[in-house]
Amino acid sequence: MRRRIVAGNWKMNTTHSEAMELVEGLKANLTEDIVGETGVIIAPPALFLNDVVESLVENEFIAVAAQNCHHEESGAFTGEISAPMLASLDLDAVIIGHSERRQYFGETNADCKVKIGQALNNELAAIYCIGETLEERKSGQFMEVILKQCAEGLEGFIAEDMDNIILAYEPVWAIGTGEVASPEQAQDVHAGIRTWLAERFDSETAENVTVLYGGSCKPGNAADLFAKKDIDGGLIGGASLSADDFTAIIAARTNA
Ligand code: PEP
Repeated sequence: MRRRIVAGNWKMNTTHSEAMELVEGLKANLTEDIVGETGVIIAPPALFLNDVVESLVENEFIAVAAQNCHHEESGAFTGEISAPMLASLDLDAVIIGHSERRQYFGETNADCKVKIGQALNNELAAIYCIGETLEERKSGQFMEVILKQCAEGLEGFIAEDMDNIILAYEPVWAIGTGEVASPEQAQDVHAGIRTWLAERFDSETAENVTVLYGGSCKPGNAADLFAKKDIDGGLIGGASLSADDFTAIIAARTNA
């Protein structure tokens, strides 16, 4: 089911007390009027997930995601975190294939496919990130790159699986750079992804999959992005570390 969603990826930021303060700030800010029909997800550092989930037990607005999971269920993988572990904390979702995971940890589309499977097998929604580098954008071949990420990462999944897979188009050149994609650039890619989804699955699935935009989305540019018909919301990095900025982006989604 296509949903309006604003998700915040905190990355490797915040100490424990800062994380809890940020959650408290969001709890105080988010009212029925601001949230409306928007699904709000936060992805704090793994170490703090349990405390964050506990502090949100009575909160009806905020869902919690992990930033990554391992591709195996369990085993001798020192330092790693599995999808069953995340599910045991009552998490809602997990981000898969963020460009920083691809760039710094060598994750491939094939790895992402297995991780998405892990997420779904453990009743976690998968937020699958795709997007081209600056070089790929400049070469004009960016749509091929994005659709390859879709094809290989979603290989083997069926239309029903797409109910639990959210796509996040995040041009790498826009992440953390302050250089946001224009609403038209983002809309063109989102529309291309939906065309691909219609061919790969069917038109109903293409219409129903939630496709988020990520990359320097801020309170000042969110409304213009969310006004585009194929942009269902945002995956927010830097601006999700401020309760007020993240709230303003959620309000922009609700009011767009
Ligand atoms: C991200 O890392 O997913 C992201 C969108 O970051 P930022 O908003 O800081 O560009």
